[in-house]
Amino acid sequence: MMAQPNNGKIQLRLTINLRLHQLICLLFLVLVSALALGHTSPYPLSLRPYITFVFLFSLAGLVLKEFVYNRQLLSRYFWLIDLIDVATASFIYHMGFFPVNYLLVLYFFLIFLSIREIVPGETYYVTLLSLVGFGINVAFLWPNYQLLAPVYGPNPLIYGFFVSSALACLIVVGVFAYFYAKSDFQLARNLQQMLDEKEAALKETYLTHANLEEKYAFFYTLTLIQQFLLEEMDETNLLTRITDIVQGIVGSYSCAIFSLDKDDTIRLSAASGKQLPPDLYEFVQRPDSLVALTIKSQAIHNEASASFAERNYWAEHNIHSLVTVPLSTKNNKLGVILATSPQNFSFDQEQQEQLMIIANQVSLALENTRLHKETKLMAWHDSLTGLYNRNYLNIFLSIVEDSTSNRLGCMIFDLDRFKVVNDTYGHTTGDMVLKKLASILAKHTTPGRIAVRYGGEEFIMLDLNSSVEELYALGEQIRKEVAAQKFWTTAGEEFSITVSCGIALDSTGFDNVFAKADTALYQAKDQGRNQVVIYDSVETPS
Ligand code: GH3
Ligand code: MG
Ligand code: MG
Repeated sequence: MMAQPNNGKIQLRLTINLRLHQLICLLFLVLVSALALGHTSPYPLSLRPYITFVFLFSLAGLVLKEFVYNRQLLSRYFWLIDLIDVATASFIYHMGFFPVNYLLVLYFFLIFLSIREIVPGETYYVTLLSLVGFGINVAFLWPNYQLLAPVYGPNPLIYGFFVSSALACLIVVGVFAYFYAKSDFQLARNLQQMLDEKEAALKETYLTHANLEEKYAFFYTLTLIQQFLLEEMDETNLLTRITDIVQGIVGSYSCAIFSLDKDDTIRLSAASGKQLPPDLYEFVQRPDSLVALTIKSQAIHNEASASFAERNYWAEHNIHSLVTVPLSTKNNKLGVILATSPQNFSFDQEQQEQLMIIANQVSLALENTRLHKETKLMAWHDSLTGLYNRNYLNIFLSIVEDSTSNRLGCMIFDLDRFKVVNDTYGHTTGDMVLKKLASILAKHTTPGRIAVRYGGEEFIMLDLNSSVEELYALGEQIRKEVAAQKFWTTAGEEFSITVSCGIALDSTGFDNVFAKADTALYQAKDQGRNQVVIYDSVETPS
């Protein structure tokens, strides 16, 4: 990891470095010129090539620095500049004739500091190399001190002072470099650790965020489902849409909804996705099937709960994951949602929980549509016999009477001496007789002919297509069927009953035709009951 260097500070330091280097080059130029001009100097002429070499080296270094500096090259290159300085200083030291040589060690220290700011990771090596180089200089090249003999005279104390000062500085710089480098490492390690922690936290935040986003998407879908569930009253449409939605949420291969009928048979109500096995309907009827098990236990199940036979069955159809969710309300078991997938372990815990939530909503909606259906049925049907009631008759008439050309056939049926049945065998037996008559009438309804329970034991049939003869034949057939019907009381007593029927047919509207049929019925009763009378044959009183 590389720390971001403080560019302004480095630039300033490099500028100072550059100016100093220029100054040193200038001094050397003066010195070289003085030597070249042969001026009297305290230095022996034999030093001339050394001094010239150091001057040229320093000049080359300056040129390189100017190049790097002016090109605004990457800060990474700046440690090259420091290396040049180290080399120059080493050469100067190599000459070994300046009384302030030991100060060069401190100069190294400054170099170290500037490198440290630029490329912290590399300071260790550069500084170590510099110090080793400088140490070698001290150890092996010191004999050059003899070159200074003409200046200071043969005084070993002075040389001793230079040597020990240089060594002391070397040690000080070494110690500082060591601690700085150590703290650098520590800092880098801490930063790395911090970065790792930040990354881990960020990762966690990201995961939480993704999780939340997923949850949000699910609840948004759920809101849409709820809205749709409230609006859709047709059970088939509702269930088909639900299978589509479940497919989308859990990404299943196929999805089906099985309903539980009142007689406990399992019925396939809706499916979507890939084609389900054609014999699935028979398979789920088995008491050990996953669907049956889910209905029984009212708990969510997956392939792990499936029997060996069922797992084989699904594997034959390339299905390896299953999930079944019960649909139920507090009092009713309604059915099961089944989702399948060709992959192993497809439905995770979260998806199963989501399915449970959807199933609860769907169950409520399903109950709602069933109640709605029942209410509709109740509004139009007689609750005892299941035939149409007068509410429906009015709707039927409003439709029929819009097309006035229609001739309307009306048959009124009234049980004979029904009161006696009630009085003798009880109201419950009476009800049973009413239901039987209703079922006989219902048998003879067609698209153009309806049966209505008009009053207590009065039933009418309205017909749009038949002739009087046909109506009469029908009336006769019903009359005979009723007469032939045997009834048993709860006490085991056998009895039978007859019915009378009045028929009228014309296009003057329901009220008229009903009144005429009623007149005919009255006559049938009058003539001894158990007969069918057509209005036309009724002698209208003059
Ligand atoms: P008639 O041959 O003249 O028609 O004789 P009837 O005894 O049938 O006479 P009526 O039509 O006046 O009698 C109607 C009876 O039907 C009276 C009532 O107790 C009975 N009734 C009406 N509605 C119901 C019902 O919902 N259930 C039962 N069990 N009886 C009913
Ligand atoms: Mg009656
Ligand atoms: Mg009657």
